[in-house]
Amino acid sequence: MFNQKIVASLGKSSMIRAMFEAGARLKAEYGEENVFDFSLGNPEIEPPVQVQETIRKYVNSQTPGLHYYMNNAGYQDVRAKVAEYLQKKSGVPLTHDNILMVCGAAAGMNVTLKALLNPGEEVIVLSPFFVEYLSYIDNADGKPVIVKTEKDTFQIDVEAVKNSITPKTKGIILNSPNNPTGVVYSRESLERLRGAIEEKEKEFGTSIFILSDEPYVSIVYDGIELPNMLSVFKNCIVINSFSKSHALPGERIGYVAVSSRIDDVETLMAAMITLNRTLGFVNAPALFQKVVAENLDVAVDTAFYQEKRDILYNHITSVGFECVKPSGAFYLFMKSPIEDEVEFCATAQKYNLLIVPGSGFGCPGYVRIAYCYDTAMIKRSLDAFTKLAREYGLI
Ligand code: PLP
Repeated sequence: MFNQKIVASLGKSSMIRAMFEAGARLKAEYGEENVFDFSLGNPEIEPPVQVQETIRKYVNSQTPGLHYYMNNAGYQDVRAKVAEYLQKKSGVPLTHDNILMVCGAAAGMNVTLKALLNPGEEVIVLSPFFVEYLSYIDNADGKPVIVKTEKDTFQIDVEAVKNSITPKTKGIILNSPNNPTGVVYSRESLERLRGAIEEKEKEFGTSIFILSDEPYVSIVYDGIELPNMLSVFKNCIVINSFSKSHALPGERIGYVAVSSRIDDVETLMAAMITLNRTLGFVNAPALFQKVVAENLDVAVDTAFYQEKRDILYNHITSVGFECVKPSGAFYLFMKSPIEDEVEFCATAQKYNLLIVPGSGFGCPGYVRIAYCYDTAMIKRSLDAFTKLAREYGLI
């Protein structure tokens, strides 16, 4: 009766739903403060003070036209500010014509994929990955091609990507800092990837686009270098959002920056602007475009997340769990001590620990721990991780 494909896919989201229900049950039974819920990447942090002040300024503003319809690409002055900001960072010439304001990275990805893909064209996704990518590619009638990252380091396996490129490859999604691993891709691997792409483009006479999904770009630790994707890749489209950097996920605001180095960039931009309208987003929220344009250089305090990473990473590795040390974002991707990580997550629930199986991110054998939560809760949870390690004979 309803859309069969969507109805059939509903079962797949049951893992997160089951987790949510388990959390509610445990909290009712043991009390909120005794349940350690690391399941969702929904940060418990308020937007920076400057951002809150700018919001108040625009809410109180009597400037006429602030709430009108606008160009589907967004306010021109806002796009110009974003372009200037990114040009300074990348060295790539950009104007407002290269910027599309969107309803968060999710909308940006959908608009970009739909503008790029003809039915059946392929998009390479590196696993583990943010699972929504598969739906976004499907929405654009594309075909995901999943390529594993390097074992244990989760860095790009350039040879494997190269071997997966076919004449139908239209795009490669990169997400660094990464959800779910927290890994930042090294400059060396990105430059090798560029070489591999150029070789394949020559061989097949095609253009392959990098879709750089960057919601965590301002959450990086230990002074690690985060290479600028626009400067590394010629056919680069950056999809960014203010959900994490400015703690504004509910406001649905982000941008897509399309490199001026792309051939016929004008047609691509025109397609994306049209799609922003026809996919039903119409334009990014008016007030929040103005708010973020005045706060491009602002971001949540990285120390807020780094403290949590350090407490958790130091503890879980000290009790024998294996985990690559995250360089960014706010996730740990821990190796399950048994092959069946779904069973491991079920066992963790005995200690009121809610963690998510890696198979939900295309990477069985691991679990994701989202640590964007209250530090006091993280500290209270450490004993539960110790007990879990003991149960598996790690200590
Ligand atoms: N991409 C990644 C890797 C994410 O983790 C998320 C949200 O968690 C998104 C995209 C979507 O972000 P937004 O809120 O900007 O749509």
